Amino acid sequence: MKNEKLERCLKRKRLRNNALKRAILEVIEESDMALKAEEIQQRLRNYPVRKPAINTIYRTLQILVDCDVISAINVGQTRYFTKHGASYFICRECNRLISGPKLPEEVKRKIAKWFETDDAFEMVIYNLCKRCK
Ligand SMILES: [Zn+2]
Repeated sequence: MKNEKLERCLKRKRLRNNALKRAILEVIEESDMALKAEEIQQRLRNYPVRKPAINTIYRTLQILVDCDVISAINVGQTRYFTKHGASYFICRECNRLISGPKLPEEVKRKIAKWFETDDAFEMVIYNLCKRCK
């Protein structure tokens, strides 16, 4: 489903649907944690794609965000990338980010209804972590 949405979007933007875009999307889809571009670059070593420079990865990530098949979360100076429908806790003091609970289907349905979207959202909860209290 994500791949079809991406394909439609790339066609609209007249961009090629290449193996790198699909591989990056897969890395993010398979991760339970939001990832930095550098972490995505490392994980791509397990994929049969040419090893891309970090700038290429950033550019590709931005296209995936623009096509709304992944989300970006900015925490301080750091930009994380995540699949849709995930939840995260972020400490507003030290900027630590960890995975939150898996959202129940009912919660996902309500969010989707309210925002009139499919699963294109993420839930982020800010507070002070134990260390910073
Ligand atoms: Zn903290």
